[in-house]
Amino acid sequence: MDRKEINAILEEAIALGKEAIPNGEVASYIPELSKADKNHLGLSIYTKDGRRYNMGDTDVRFTIQSISKIITLAVALEACGPEEIFAKVDVEPSGEAFNSLIDLDTTSNKPKNPMINSGALTVTSLLLNKTTFSEMRVFARKLCQDPEMDLDKAVFNSERANISRNRAIAYLLESKGIIESDVEDTLDLYTKMCSLTVTANSLANLGLTLANDGIDLSTGTRLLKTETVHMIKTIMLTCGMYDSSGEFAVHVGVPTKSGVGGGLVSTVDKEMGIGIFSPSLDEKGNCIAGRPVLEHLSKELKLHIFEWQSRIVDQVKPV
Ligand code: GLU
Repeated sequence: MDRKEINAILEEAIALGKEAIPNGEVASYIPELSKADKNHLGLSIYTKDGRRYNMGDTDVRFTIQSISKIITLAVALEACGPEEIFAKVDVEPSGEAFNSLIDLDTTSNKPKNPMINSGALTVTSLLLNKTTFSEMRVFARKLCQDPEMDLDKAVFNSERANISRNRAIAYLLESKGIIESDVEDTLDLYTKMCSLTVTANSLANLGLTLANDGIDLSTGTRLLKTETVHMIKTIMLTCGMYDSSGEFAVHVGVPTKSGVGGGLVSTVDKEMGIGIFSPSLDEKGNCIAGRPVLEHLSKELKLHIFEWQSRIVDQVKPV
């Protein structure tokens, strides 16, 4: 496909996304996020052969929110090792809201997965005596190839002032002996990571770094081990869209992670990274325009994980 054909598909995807925007709402439980312009929509694709396709609001900065959970998990997997992490956190889809504590309180002594708040807070607690926010920010900038990635102080202060739900989860985790580090320090690092700013562009870079086996395409530097990248992509596919993960995997079939700031990062193995920004959210807290945009791209560019695999097999079939 040439650039013109791909741009036409992107335009169709953006049009479908725009239709969905009025059906969602910007997040308001973090008051500062409610100031976002609901009509923003940006789509950025960065391919392994170095081509970039940008459409719409791809340079607008917004907070990464839960997409930071994949960065924190990646750092933790490398700093602590998978055994230590998965001894504390499961890797099963939760089927519950991202900030739920019901299952944890009533039936389990382990958060269901590292993509929901209870799991991410646990993973963050394991990093407290191993790294600092400043080091995490340096690494996040590298993964996203975004030197301007920084703390949005207004969003951070707004979430810190309205953190009762996450505080309840964190103290429940402490009461069960799952969090052993200081709870307030854990909440602080978690919230700071969520308050880092990105653009649709930097999310496409992150998606491509994951698609490219953890290697920064622009410098050729390995940033993450293959083993870590495999785990991250699998967890994105099974748990990245909260309680829409299964449905999303069936209809889109591309490992994706969402954040309540309106960001989505998708990774098409060995092929491309996709970054989307649109702050209007569905009732599950996922960017509402992202679903039709990605479904269209998946269908037209044949990105679904199983379709993509058969495409590769077809290519190597002896003639
Ligand atoms: N900082 C947000 C929270 O903990 C992140 C949630 C999200 O992006 O889904 O509530």
